[in-house]
Amino acid sequence: MTLTPDQTAEIDAARAAESRTLRPVSPGMEARLYTAHPVLDHGFVRVIDYMGDDSAIVQAARVSYGRGTKKVSDDAGLIAYLMRHWHSTPFEMCEVKFHVKLPIFVARQWIRHRTANVNEISARYSILDREFYIPAPENLAAQSASNRQGRGEALEGDEAQRVLDWLRDDATRAYDHYEAMLGQEGQQGLARELARMNLPANVYTQWYWKCDLHNLFHFLRLRADPHAQFEIRVYAEAMAEITADWVPLAYAAFEDYRMGGAQLSAKGVKVLKRRLRGEVVSQEDSGMSKGEWREFEGVWG
Ligand SMILES: Cc1cc2nc3c(=O)[nH]c(=O)nc-3n(C[C@H](O)[C@H](O)[C@H](O)COP(=O)(O)OP(=O)(O)OC[C@H]3O[C@@H](n4cnc5c(N)ncnc54)[C@H](O)[C@@H]3O)c2cc1C
Repeated sequence: MTLTPDQTAEIDAARAAESRTLRPVSPGMEARLYTAHPVLDHGFVRVIDYMGDDSAIVQAARVSYGRGTKKVSDDAGLIAYLMRHWHSTPFEMCEVKFHVKLPIFVARQWIRHRTANVNEISARYSILDREFYIPAPENLAAQSASNRQGRGEALEGDEAQRVLDWLRDDATRAYDHYEAMLGQEGQQGLARELARMNLPANVYTQWYWKCDLHNLFHFLRLRADPHAQFEIRVYAEAMAEITADWVPLAYAAFEDYRMGGAQLSAKGVKVLKRRLRGEVVSQEDSGMSKGEWREFEGVWG
């Protein structure tokens, strides 16, 4: 993570300025506010603002006049019920705004989540920093042999070194040309909006990303999942830790029913029932395809 002394001072000043409020606050989130949590080699995620806490979910579900909280155990039970039965709108009553610094190729995956509000740094207006994502050696992996959309073992030895050298050299050369195109002694300089097209996809961008809790959970379920690409997963994991501190009851229900839970198809339910009766069931007489069976056995086998 690269923060300039000025940026660090701004964050410290924001954390030092307290204000009184009648609104509910989440102690776990207050402890996180403004602080930049490092992700990848130059990235970070930090919370800029939030609205609501666990009690806001309960309050909305009950359409209460007061804070909505009865007892923590009642709240936990209601929140778990809402999560279990796929109620969405009570969770939409909580909002969070993140400031994220991330490589452009990660931003391309992230931006597909349309239910957030996004404002990205303008590379027409600003000059992007000389910062590129270079994977740590253990993440410099070969193409997976079994999964076309995944990676396998880490590259080793000369091959790993050659790839790392290319990644660094290409990014450095592209950035050198970007800088040179923006202007040198006695030259007019190319517009920033044009010079940027030369930059590689591992250069870092930044945005503010605001989302409600229901859609944040959806994002986390997809992107904190082992099937998500490592480079976006580490952001989702950092955000998941923050969310657990922000709304501990809702996060516990999310972990239980979504992250840790598993969905069953009708065929899956039938197979499980047959197995519970002591029957031996194989893929051939399950009615499932080979792929479906593999996934089913991965969870229930
Ligand atoms: C492991 C993985 C691999 C992927 N691979 C690819 C890929 O190869 N190619 C590719 O293009 N994408 C890929 N994606 C992106 C994926 O298809 C989704 O675009 C992305 O995850 C965002 O999900 P979403 O649309 O549910 O989220 P959001 O955009 O946040 O939407 C949340 C929900 O709101 C509803 N919604 C939002 N907008 C609309 C709308 N306009 N119309 C109707 N309903 C709407 C939908 O129910 C949606 O599920 C991949 C994602 C993952 C996690």
